[in-house]
Parts: sequence; structure tokens; C-alpha cells
Amino acid sequence: MSNSAEVQNVGTSKFVCPKCGSSDIKNCAIIHTSGTTSLDLGVEGANFNFSHGSQLAKELAPPQKKETHPIAMVVFGLITILCLYGGAIIGAVIFGILTYANYSANQDANRYNENEYPAEYEAWQDSYICFKCGHKFVIR
Ligand SMILES: [Zn+2]
Repeated sequence: MSNSAEVQNVGTSKFVCPKCGSSDIKNCAIIHTSGTTSLDLGVEGANFNFSHGSQLAKELAPPQKKETHPIAMVVFGLITILCLYGGAIIGAVIFGILTYANYSANQDANRYNENEYPAEYEAWQDSYICFKCGHKFVIR
């Protein structure tokens, strides 16, 4: 039996650390959920989330969706139009730029939330951390 054969034997189980071969691994989603207590209060559409937990649980938090600010975009757009009607060209230019910047930020956020976020969330649910070497990895 050579050393390389032993290493291959260690790799036959899926649920070991790919870096050090330790089986002392745990699912990140489970650590996060069990190590965090949270209280969600929904008050008139506003959502306050108070959560606290271990540092590890925080580090293993799921990926967050990017926020969009469609109302800010509408407000900037309206101010741009008002400036144009009022003849305030510099104001129209400034708020026009803000409107566009906000629009493209919203587009980026929507694109991320629709295309990348689901895959990242799925990867998070399948991710494990090794308690021996601290390596984080995904098991599909
Ligand atoms: Zn390891």
C-alpha cells in the first residue's frame, strides 16, 4: 500500500474535508441557523430584524439579496423633469445623472438577485466548514 492509495481511500467518502481529509465537518447553513437567534418584527411594511449569534454563525450567514431603490429612482426622475420645466439645466443634469446611476444600480441588483443569488444561496446550503483546518467547501 503506497501513500497515494491511502489518500485516495480518504477521498472515497464525499463528506470529508478536501484539504486535510478530516471528517470533522459541519454544514454551514446548520451552524448558522442553530447559532443565531432572530426576531422578525413586521411593522407596517417595514421589516426589522434583530439577530445575534456567535461570530462563526455570523461568518456563515447566507448570501444577501441586493437592495433596490426604485422609489429613489422615481423621485430623482421627477426632480429632473421639474428642473427641466423650470429651466434649471444644471439641476436637471445633476438629477438626470443621479436617476441614471440609480437606474443602473437597480438593474445590477435585479440581475444579481435573479441570476446569481439563487446559485449562491444553493451553494451556501451545500457548503461545509472543516473544524480541523477551517477550510470552507461545497459538497454537491
Ligand atoms: Zn480540513
